[in-house]
Amino acid sequence: MKVVSIFLIMSLLLGVFGCSSAKVDEWWLKKGPLEGELIVAPVEGLSKDFIRGADVSSLLAQEASGVRFYNFDGEEQDMLKTLAEAGFNYIRVRIWNDPFDANGNGYGGGNCTVDTALELGVRAKKYGMKLLVNFHYSDFWADPGKQQVPKAWAGKSLDEKADALYEYTVESLKTLIDGGADVGMVQIGNETTTGFCGENAWPRITQLMASGANAVRDVAKDKKKDIQIAVHFTNPESRDFVQAARVLDVNNVDYDIFASSYYPFWHGTLDNLAGQLRAVAEQFDKKVMVAEVAYAYSWEDFDGHANTIGEGAVFEQPYPLTVQGQARAIADVVAAVASIGEAALGVFYWEPGWIPVPVSASATTPELAWQERSVLWERHGSGWASSFAAEYDPADAGVWYGGSACDNQALFDAYGYPLPSLRVFGYCYTGSTSERRLDEVSNAYISVRLRNPIFLPETVEATYNDGATENVAVQWEADAAKLDEISNSPVGVYRINGTAQGLPVTCFVSMEEENYIENHSFELDDRSMWVLNNIGDTEQLRFQEKATDAHSGKYSLHFWDPSYVEFSVTQTVTGLRPGTYNFTVHIQGGDMVNEEIYIFASVDGDAQVFKTHATVDGWVNWQMPTIEGLYTHTGVIIVGVYVKSNGGWGTMDDFLLNPAN
Ligand code: CA
Repeated sequence: MKVVSIFLIMSLLLGVFGCSSAKVDEWWLKKGPLEGELIVAPVEGLSKDFIRGADVSSLLAQEASGVRFYNFDGEEQDMLKTLAEAGFNYIRVRIWNDPFDANGNGYGGGNCTVDTALELGVRAKKYGMKLLVNFHYSDFWADPGKQQVPKAWAGKSLDEKADALYEYTVESLKTLIDGGADVGMVQIGNETTTGFCGENAWPRITQLMASGANAVRDVAKDKKKDIQIAVHFTNPESRDFVQAARVLDVNNVDYDIFASSYYPFWHGTLDNLAGQLRAVAEQFDKKVMVAEVAYAYSWEDFDGHANTIGEGAVFEQPYPLTVQGQARAIADVVAAVASIGEAALGVFYWEPGWIPVPVSASATTPELAWQERSVLWERHGSGWASSFAAEYDPADAGVWYGGSACDNQALFDAYGYPLPSLRVFGYCYTGSTSERRLDEVSNAYISVRLRNPIFLPETVEATYNDGATENVAVQWEADAAKLDEISNSPVGVYRINGTAQGLPVTCFVSMEEENYIENHSFELDDRSMWVLNNIGDTEQLRFQEKATDAHSGKYSLHFWDPSYVEFSVTQTVTGLRPGTYNFTVHIQGGDMVNEEIYIFASVDGDAQVFKTHATVDGWVNWQMPTIEGLYTHTGVIIVGVYVKSNGGWGTMDDFLLNPAN
C-alpha cells in the first residue's frame, strides 16, 4: 500500500513539474530472435536511432468518441504508451489551419489543429517520443487529388500568402514548443506531388514552401532547438523525385529531409522507392524517409464505411491481407529504407489507431450501427470527413463523408487491442520466429467477354507465413447454371466464393463487352499498338502504374504539365467484321485552362473524322465520351483522343470499341 501511495505522489509531482518522462523498456535493443506469432527477418545494421513513427492524428477524436485502447496484457492504457512499449519513438500529427465551418462544426479526419498536435505532442513526450508536425497548409486533406488554399488565405496575392504562411508557421511552432511538445521535425506540406496551398505552378509553390521553411529555421534558432525540415511527395511509382528535388533546389527551398508516402498496394516496387530516395539523398545531400506507410491485415470493413483497400479492391495485392502480411509489408519497407544507408532516417506508419468508434449493445444491425457511429463521426470528427466538410470539399467529402476508410489498416484490432504486428518495428531489430503455417489463399481474377463460357481456375496461390507460395486446389461454389447466368449478365464484376485448404477464397469474374481495341486498359507490357504523339512537348505523358488513377487494373495513360499540354494517342484497329461499332474512352483529370479534349475515329481510310468533345471534372470523376454508329465495310477503324490545354493533368483508360448490336 505504502509503495503504491509513494508512487502516486511521485507521479503527481513529476506531472506538476512537467518531466514525467517514463523510461521505456527497449526490449528490441537487447533481445532476439523472439519466438512469437509472426515471422519477421531482422534488418541488418538497423540504427538504434532509426525513426519508428506513428501518425496518431485521429487519436483525440477517437477517444472523444469513446474508443478505448489496451496494452498487450489486455489492460486499458494510453495508446501512445502502448506504441512506445511496442517500439515506436516518434509521432506525427497533421495540422489544418481551420477545419471548421462558421458554426464551429468540424470537418472530420480528427478535426486536427495546432491544439491537437500540442496535446498529443505533450502526451507522447512522456513516453520519450518526439513530434513530427505535419502542416497541410489547407483547411482539410491535402494530397495528390487536392491542395486547397485555407479559407482565410483565399483572396491573397502570392506574396501576401507567403507572409501569412510564414507567420502562421512561426506562431504554430511557438505554441507547440512553449506548450511542451518535443518538436523534432516539421513537414512543409503533405503529399505535394501535384500542388501546394492552392497553387500548382512550381515557381509559386516553391516560394511558399521556402517561406514555411524559413519560418521553421527562425523558430529553431529563436528557441535553440534542433528541428529538421521535411518536404513530402508521393507516388514514387510515377513521380520523378530527382526532378522534384531539382525544382526545390533551383528555387532555394531550404530543407533537410525528402520524404515519400509508400502504400504497397498502389506505389510500385520497393526497389523503385529505395532507388528514388537514394538518388535524391546522393545528388542533393538530403536525408530521406517514408512519411506514411500502411497495409491491411484483413479484407473486412469494421465500421460500415468502405475501406480504401479491402472488399472493393478487385486487383491482386502484394502481400496477404493478414496480420503476418501486414508485418511483412512494414518490415520490407524498413529494410528498403535502411538499405539506403546513413541518409535514411526512418518510417512512419499511417494511423495505427484509426479503428471503429464503438456502438451500443442495441445496435444489432449494420444500419443501426451506422446511425450510432454517424452521430459520433459528426460530433467528434472521428470519421475521415463529416458532412460539414461539404462547404470546403464538395466533390469528395461532400459526397463520401463517413467513418474510417482504413480501419483494416490499423495495428490495433477493431476493439482497441494491439495486433502482434504492432511490435513489427521492434522485431526489425530482434527478428521473430513462429511455427510454419498457411497464411492466406489468394483470390482469383478473370475476365470474360459477354455471353462467352466462364472457366474458373482449378488452383489458387497459397502463401505461408514465411512468405513461400504454392498452387493449391480450389472448390468453387458455382454450378453450370450459375456460370451460365453470369455469362448472360451485363457488364460488371461478379463474385464466386470458394474454399481452398480450408480457407475462404473469391473469384472475381469481370464480364466485359466484346472489345476490339488491343491492350485497351494498358495492362500488358507490349504497348506498341498505341501511337503517342506528344505534339506540345507535354512534360509527363506516359503509361503509368498506379491503381488509384486507373479506371481498371493498375495502368493508365497519364499526362501532366503545369503550363501546356498537347498530345494525341491513337490505335489502328483492323480485321473487324463489316458492321457498326461504338467507341468509348474513360478519362479523368483537372486543373485545365482553355482546354480542348475530344475522342475521334476515322473509318475505312476516309478523310472524314468523327469527333465527340469531352470535359474533365476532377480526380476519378470518370467521363465517358462516346462516338456511336461507326460503320465499316473494310474492317479498319482508327480511334484516338486529342488533348490540348494550358496546363493540367489527367489519365485515360479502358478504350472500348464495341459492336453496336
Ligand atoms: Ca471502414
